[in-house]
Amino acid sequence: MDQRGLNEVTDLQPTGVIVVTGGSRGIGAATCRLAHATGYQVVFSYNSNADAAATVVADCDGAAIAVQADVRHEADAANLFDAAEEAFGPATVLVNNAGILHEQVRFDEMSVDRWREVFDVNVIGSFICAREAVRRMSTRHGGAGGVIVNVSSAASYLGSPGEYIDYAATKAAIDTMTLGLGKEVATEGIRVNAVRPGVIYTDIHASGGEPGRVDRVAGGVPMKRGGQAEEVADAILWLASDASSYITATTLNVSGGR
Ligand code: NAP
Repeated sequence: MDQRGLNEVTDLQPTGVIVVTGGSRGIGAATCRLAHATGYQVVFSYNSNADAAATVVADCDGAAIAVQADVRHEADAANLFDAAEEAFGPATVLVNNAGILHEQVRFDEMSVDRWREVFDVNVIGSFICAREAVRRMSTRHGGAGGVIVNVSSAASYLGSPGEYIDYAATKAAIDTMTLGLGKEVATEGIRVNAVRPGVIYTDIHASGGEPGRVDRVAGGVPMKRGGQAEEVADAILWLASDASSYITATTLNVSGGR
C-alpha cells in the first residue's frame, strides 16, 4: 500500500524517555522509530533477534539503546528500566508491546505447555513490566508520573476461534489489567491505556503458521485492508503524549473497524 503520510511528524511535542518491550520487530520497531522521530529517548528490549534490534538502533540514528531482556523475567525487566535510567533518566513511558502466539489450532488440540508459555509472555511479562513502571513512575513511590500503553489485540473481543483462543484470552487479560491499573494509579500521575490492533502486517502471523494471514483476513475488515505497524505506532504515541491527557483506563481499537 501507499506508505506516504505514515508517521509524519505532526504538532505533537512529546519529549521523554520511552521504554518499548519487543522493539526489535513489527509494531514495537515502528513505535521505536516514530518515538525517535518525535523527540523521545528510546530504550527497547528484544528477546533473541539481536540483528533486528541492531537495525532498529540504526533506524534511530544510533541514538536508541537495545537491551536483551526477556519480559518473563523480573530481573530482566528491572535491568531494562535501569538501562534507560542510566542513559537518559527515569522512564516516562512504557509501551508494553512484546507478545507471542503459536500455531493456529483448535482449542481441543492445544497443550498445557503452550498455554503456559503464551500466558507467561503475554500476561505475566506485561504485568511484570507494568509493575516495574508503576514502582518507578508513581508519585506514591516518589516518582514523577508517566504513561503506560499496553498492546492488546482485537482478538480480545473476537476470541480467535479455530486459530488461537489462548492468545485471545491473554489479550482480554491485558484489557482488564489496563482497566484496573488505570483506575488504581489515576491519582498517582500515571495514565494506563491500551491499543487493540486488528490484523497488521508483521512477522507474528508466521508464528501462527500463516505468513499471509493478513491478506486472507483483510476482506472481512470494514476498511478492506490490513494495517501497517506504523498506523499502530501512531496510536500508541498519541496515547503516550499529552494530547491524550484526560484519557486513562481505556482501550483504543486500531483495527480498520473490525
Ligand atoms: P512480532 O513482529 O512477532 O514482534 C514481536 C516482538 O516481541 C519482537 O521484538 C520479539 O523479540 C519480542 N518478544 C517476543 N517474545 C519476547 C519475550 N519473551 N521477551 C521480550 N521480547 C519478546 O509481533 P508484532 O506483530 O509486532 O506484535 C507486537 C504486539 O502487537 C504483540 O503484543 C501482539 O500480540 C500485538 N498484536 C499484533 C497484531 C498483528 O496483527 N501483528 C495484532 C494485534 C495485536 P525478538 O525480535 O528478539 O524475537
